[in-house]
Amino acid sequence: MSPPANANLSGDRPTFTSHLECSTTGKRYPADRLHGLSAAGKPLLVRYDLAALAQALSKETLAARPADMWRYREFLPVRQSENIVSLGEPMTPLVSLPICARALGVGEILVKDESRLPTGSFKARGLCLAVSMAKELGVSRMAMPTNGNAGAALAAYASRCGIEAYVFCPEDTPDVNVREIALQGAKVWKVNGLIHDCGKIVGEGKERMDWFDISTLKEPYRIEGKKTMGLELAEQLGWNVPDAIFYPTGGGTGLIGMWKAFAELEEIGWLDEERPNMVCVQASGCAPIVKAWQDGADHAELWPDAHTIAAGIRVPVALGDFMILAAVRESGGYAIAAPDSEIAAAQQEVATRDGLLMGPEGATTYAALRRAVGEGRVGRGDQVVLFNCGTSLKYPMPEVARFIDRHQPIDYDAIAAG
Ligand SMILES: *Cc1c(COP(=O)(O)O)cnc(C)c1O
Repeated sequence: MSPPANANLSGDRPTFTSHLECSTTGKRYPADRLHGLSAAGKPLLVRYDLAALAQALSKETLAARPADMWRYREFLPVRQSENIVSLGEPMTPLVSLPICARALGVGEILVKDESRLPTGSFKARGLCLAVSMAKELGVSRMAMPTNGNAGAALAAYASRCGIEAYVFCPEDTPDVNVREIALQGAKVWKVNGLIHDCGKIVGEGKERMDWFDISTLKEPYRIEGKKTMGLELAEQLGWNVPDAIFYPTGGGTGLIGMWKAFAELEEIGWLDEERPNMVCVQASGCAPIVKAWQDGADHAELWPDAHTIAAGIRVPVALGDFMILAAVRESGGYAIAAPDSEIAAAQQEVATRDGLLMGPEGATTYAALRRAVGEGRVGRGDQVVLFNCGTSLKYPMPEVARFIDRHQPIDYDAIAAG
């Protein structure tokens, strides 16, 4: 008999958080208290008693659970089941692109299709976790800057548990995102600036507004939610990793989270020391991490005049730049940018060849893969995973002008000619 659909959300599962740790100095902080950044102004990472976790959980137990994000409960920090705020976060499929793979000469291309999560993007993973922890730790008001998808996910989860949410978007954020955020109950403003300008409004308003800053990496738990992408991917591949992961990188939470997942899985003996090449993908109009990687730098500089159709990765400055760069280097990976023209072409190519409509950020990974193949960075037998992080349906698409007047004779010759 299969377990009830909500089995991962109820009952008493043991939890294993031991403490939090500064990503730069290693200084320890107690768990189960509200934290933003470390005293050094750097992101905090959640640490677990992994030896005890390994005793308590087996791969077989895990395999029998319902296929959602909360099957990984032991790897996550929420203590009390009643604090889990869930909209149903399914395990997302790995969709193969056989025709594209043949055309590019790559062994296998798998797309982790994150567009199927609540609010249509993988931001749901991070915000589901962060809002659940905020509820557990007694937060009643939160704020964040967003290019759209994070704000939508925050709005949805915060409304669901009665937390007040304030959201600030660049003024050219697609209207559908802004409206979606408002409709899901957050208070949303457009700002004449980019995401880091919006972030400043949140930071400087802290005292007056008494809100908790849930910006990317400014609290410890969004990473833990995004970490489930790495746990899921490894499990879906039979506790293996692919040869390369192409990740559309904005703030980098997902890349950092997956890197953390692989390390935790190795520590409990479920993965060996093999790692995928972590490939940081950005758009040419906003590629601070790519530039830092090329320059051999540990930190990235603010990217001036950032612009790209891939709005979700238009992030001129990332707090976790040093962690992204470290993961890319340690993995033997690389950082690569593609221009908007190639992103649009990639979107069309994947959709017309293999029937998968990727968002512009996801399509950026395919455009980058095409470049990487051209540069000889991908082997002919390689298994490559691309991340489609959000639904394309929130973005404007090319217009279709064809029209039929049904009161006139239908011109089937014209229809047949396409
Ligand atoms: C936020 C976002 C990204 C970037 O994710 P990070 O983990 O913050 O780098 C990529 N694609 C989409 C659709 C997004 O919303």
